[in-house]
Parts: sequence; structure tokens; C-alpha cells
Amino acid sequence: MKFEDYRIAEGIKKAISKLGYKKPTDIQFRSIPPILRGEDVLAIAQTGTGKTAAFVIPILHKIQEQKQGRRAGGIKCLVLAPTHELALQIYSVFKTLGKHTKVDFLCIHGGVEQDPQIQHLNDGVDVLVATPGRMFDLISQGHLILNHLKILVLDEADHMLDLGFIKDIRDLERHLPKHRQTLFFSATINDSIKKLAYSLVTNAIRIQISPKDPVAKNITHAVAMIEMDDKRHFLADLIRKNPEFKILVFVRTKVRAERVKKALERVEIVSDSIHSDKLQEEREMTMRLFRRGEQKILIATDVSARGIDIPYVDMVVNYDMPETAENYVHRVGRTGRGEQKGQAVSFCSKEEQEKLSFIETHLGKPIDRIQISKQEYKETLISIEEKKDDWRTLLANEDLEEQSRKKRKKKRR
Ligand code: AMP
Repeated sequence: MKFEDYRIAEGIKKAISKLGYKKPTDIQFRSIPPILRGEDVLAIAQTGTGKTAAFVIPILHKIQEQKQGRRAGGIKCLVLAPTHELALQIYSVFKTLGKHTKVDFLCIHGGVEQDPQIQHLNDGVDVLVATPGRMFDLISQGHLILNHLKILVLDEADHMLDLGFIKDIRDLERHLPKHRQTLFFSATINDSIKKLAYSLVTNAIRIQISPKDPVAKNITHAVAMIEMDDKRHFLADLIRKNPEFKILVFVRTKVRAERVKKALERVEIVSDSIHSDKLQEEREMTMRLFRRGEQKILIATDVSARGIDIPYVDMVVNYDMPETAENYVHRVGRTGRGEQKGQAVSFCSKEEQEKLSFIETHLGKPIDRIQISKQEYKETLISIEEKKDDWRTLLANEDLEEQSRKKRKKKRR
């Protein structure tokens, strides 16, 4: 099956071909026809499978057909996504694929002023991509009315539950028309996700992509046994050995993200970090640079990087083992996207071995061990010379700064 064979608007086909997509991916092949027919869909598919275009393509076609010259009011499709980054990414897929249609889009999320968003809503929007927080603010203030909604999409529903949005999603039902199409996407499935899904969909078509192999086949996995305090040396070593690689490094907390960044700085490796303590503009700038490959090393927490699509990430490094097997799937799904190949390397300390066993059980197979001899281990620690900013140097720098501060004060007097 090729995209030309689908009964979708020519403008959409043109945009698809411009993107270089030759044929639909598995999830697209299975979900585009039922979505076009107006059926509810419950899809278990990880990011990297092409799931965004799987709902964007048929939604664009349906709204384009409905519009046909008329400028009918009201939001027709609402896409809910757990994070700013994911919302912006979905929005950009809508914009790219919908370039030759008459469909109007808007993305709303927190962290930025709401007035321009309200203005845009008043001007008329067909597809609204939103994160739950800002969306509820606008509903409660009466700026956002969803009673003309035809299609509701929940993307990364599992992540939305992890972030505690379950009550919000249940409340959302009250603001939506009963007769609508609901498309429910989740990377993983468990009892609470099933419960939520079945409370929202009606007679849904169920689609599950590679249930036995939750991570994409074009990713190679390996794990190295490394003690917590030595990890920074091995990360620096890995980066130096792969200077061309675009590497996404996952850490457990935002504090650790900053620490790893500093540790790399000490060995003169430039990296950037992304986490929820950063301003929205900073996060967007960081993502832009990383996407373009101008910044090759990005250190991220799970929340900030989940679901985001970055082309050509060569390697994902689990600097800290993920807390859950599902998070492992999400993290490694950042590489090996579409048709590309990817590598996932995990650093596992003694304390983290239990997490590794959970992950392997979830994957249904062991992850290859990277064999490091005692000698190699020692050599790696020695080979990464850190700049001398031990406490003495830090104090000396602090003294110098204090002196110049005093001098500046004197001068002003
Ligand atoms: P997603 O799972 O939606 O995050 O998409 C993962 C990646 O696959 C994105 O970079 C898309 O541009 C790419 N992609 C989506 N559909 C296709 C397709 N039919 N052929 C090739 N690449 C695709």
C-alpha cells in the first residue's frame, strides 16, 4: 500500500511526499482507514513508530472535507499531550502535513502568556493541541469552549497518568459532546490505562504494534556495569570515542542533569541540559540546537524528553537506570526512529541491578553486557583527566571574584 492509494486530499499527499515518506508505517496502515471511517481507535504504539502522522493524516483530511469553503465555527479536534515539547511536536506535524489545507491549528501550553492564545482562539481554530494544565485554565475562564468537538485525541495517555492528570481527563468529559470520535494512544498498557481508555472510547478498533517486542527492532541494546561515582568518566569516554554522534543522556533528576553537565564541562565536553526547572524559552532553544545538531550532547530527565521526536539521535545513554521498564521503552525510543538505526547504552551500578532485571523481564530477553576488564575500567578512569577545579580551586576563584567585587564597589564610590 502506498500513500497515493489512500482517499485523502491531494494537498495532504503532496505534503507527505515532500517529507519523503514512501509508504505508511504499520501503525499508519492499521489506523488511517478506521479513523477515516469515523471509528474510535485504541492504539498501543510507542513513539518512533510514526503514530503522530497516523492520526494527523486522517484528521486533516476529515476536517478539510468538512470545511470545504465554509468557515464553520468551533474547535473540531482536540489533541491532548502530556508535555509542552510533545504538544509542540504534534503541532508541527499538523502544520507540516496540513500546509496545503485550509485547516487552522493552535498549540496551547503553560509557561507562556495566555493572552495571545486567547486572541488566536477567538480568531477561530479547527485543531487545538494542548497540555492539560493550560487547557483547563482557559476552560474555567470561559475562553475555551469545546461543545462542537468532533474528535478527541489522547496522546501518550500512559505518561499523562504518570503525571497525575487522570482526574483532569475524567473531568474533561463533562465539557465534550457525547457523540464524538475518540483516538487513544499509549506506549504501554496496564490496568489503569485500560480503565481510562474504556471510559472514553466506544466500540474502539484495537491496534497493538509489536506487543512482544516493545522496543523498535532497529535499536541495539547494551548495558555496562559501572559504579555510580565512575559513570561520568565512562560517559566522557563514550562521547570522545564517538565524536560524530548525537547523544541523548538520561538521568534520574534535574539536580543530576546539572551535575553531569558540570562533570562534562570539567573534561571540556560541551553539553546542554533540559528539565522542568528551565524556562520554556530555554527549553525550546535547547531542543532547536539539538534537533539541528548544533549541540550534540543533551542531558535530559524522563519528564522533559518523553515522547519528543528528534531526528537522527545516534545513541541514547541511560546514565541512570530508569525507574520503570516503561520508562526504558520511552527513553530508548528516542533513537532508531522511523527507518534509522539506533543504539541504547545503559550504565548500571550495583544498586541499580534490580531495575535492570525488571527491564529485561519486560523486554522478554536479556540485554547484551558490555564486557569491561578490570584493566580497561582502570584505564578509562585515568584517561579522563578532569580540570583541577577541586575545592581549593573553587575557593580561590571565589576569593578572586570577591576581590574584584570589592574593587568595583570602591570605584563606584
Ligand atoms: P512518531 O512515532 O510519530 O514520533 O514518528 C517517528 C518518526 O517517524 C518521525 O520522525 C516521522 O517523521 C517518521 N515517520 C512517520 N511516518 C513515516 C513514514 N510513513 N515513513 C517514514 N518515516 C515516517
